[in-house]
Amino acid sequence: MIQEQRKNEFKRIESRFSGVGASDGRAFRKKTTSALFSFIFNAIYRFLELSASLVFIAFFTLPVALCKLVSRIFSGGQVLERAEIYGAGGAPLKVFFFRSERYYIRNASLFIYVLLGDIGLVGIGVEKFGSRPDAPENAYIMRDKPGIFNLWFIRESGKIGHEGKIGTEWEYMFRRNIMRDLSLILRSLPSALMRSGDSTFHPEISLFGIKFRNLKMAEAVELVENSIINKERKKIFFINPDCLNKTFSDDAYSSVLKQGDVVLPDGSGLSLACKIIGKPLLENVNGTDMFPFLCRLSAAKKYSLYLLGAKPGVAEAVKKNLELKYSGIVIGGARDGYFDREKDSKSVIEEVNRQAPDILFVAFGAPVQEKWISEHFDQLNAKVCIGVGGLFDFYSGRIPRAPKWMREFGLEWIFRLMQEPVRMWKRYIIGNPVFVFRVMKWKAFMEDSNGNK
Ligand code: UDP
Repeated sequence: MIQEQRKNEFKRIESRFSGVGASDGRAFRKKTTSALFSFIFNAIYRFLELSASLVFIAFFTLPVALCKLVSRIFSGGQVLERAEIYGAGGAPLKVFFFRSERYYIRNASLFIYVLLGDIGLVGIGVEKFGSRPDAPENAYIMRDKPGIFNLWFIRESGKIGHEGKIGTEWEYMFRRNIMRDLSLILRSLPSALMRSGDSTFHPEISLFGIKFRNLKMAEAVELVENSIINKERKKIFFINPDCLNKTFSDDAYSSVLKQGDVVLPDGSGLSLACKIIGKPLLENVNGTDMFPFLCRLSAAKKYSLYLLGAKPGVAEAVKKNLELKYSGIVIGGARDGYFDREKDSKSVIEEVNRQAPDILFVAFGAPVQEKWISEHFDQLNAKVCIGVGGLFDFYSGRIPRAPKWMREFGLEWIFRLMQEPVRMWKRYIIGNPVFVFRVMKWKAFMEDSNGNK
């Protein structure tokens, strides 16, 4: 009886404090514990943020301010400029930036605002007020403070911001935790060094006489879609340093690339080369990253695909994986790339033509796939033919792809080298330095004002 009375009294007190029904006592306790936990967590997070920003102010903001003041004394000019950015919850926030074209110099002043609690050390991107479209996606990501270190900065610097700014910031907001924030700070430092300062982008770039497009991933995907819609048949090729090295000893391959309707830059090697010649890449538009975008598009618009290439069973495994992942995707056929090109190309082409795919992916490796597509383009009944190298090996699960952090720093080639050292050592250990040397030579002696030989 007494026990019963105590229980009722406890429930009554709980309901008074929580404002909920007496039966929700457990929920109240849970709420109190989680509020306490989040209070402690926020206090620790804030402490770490304050300590880190003090270190940055001492070793970065103050030296930058000093350099700026000295340069003002000798050559004049403004040290700071005022701007309005999005603050916590999307509210306008007035801040001072250092006057500079360089992102990290410009933003060095912002560590002061971290101390004041207006800006986070890590968060979504710092943006000029009024620049974000008034869309619900933006409302979601702007719930929090902007951060000096942010995922978009890393992806953009590494030229792999393929999901676009909003997509990348959603990814950050969904997955953020203290360890990820810490790794983001560490990853930002090398990213700052990789970033291209130049903001004028050339729509087309030429290297060793091979012209390629300088596009964002979304634009490249749109280009494929327009070819399908407008029935403008296209050959799409990707080039990486190894491909360009091969053009020095393979004239036929070189002329095939010159005749490609769309040639796209694949990999960090091309990004580095473009930086060296002073024409920075917008994005690293490689086939492996483009593939999921094309699959998503094709599933939505019912464009049909054909997968041709790789070892027996691999293209079929990719087909199965894609059918599981993209509901409604139409994959007309899949077959391996180990056939006699002299004798069996005709029957393979007939097989492809029976499906008349909108997009034909050819994965025989460079330069075989580019030459095969060019030679048979007129006989192939496919709207867009794309040479994709070892892509099926990744999407079948046969070979794992480098983790994203390696790709952010342009280190995917090290991962591939570790996986297949016997096959890849020549391509990377010898090929990469040879390529950089050739790029420098090209820059120094061969490039005319139009970037042509
Ligand atoms: N391959 C093929 N037929 C051949 C030789 C190779 O289908 O006669 C495939 C091979 O199985 C691999 C791809 O072509 O899936 C080439 O991969 P690699 O990584 O060498 O190509 P890259 O992307 O470097 O051009």
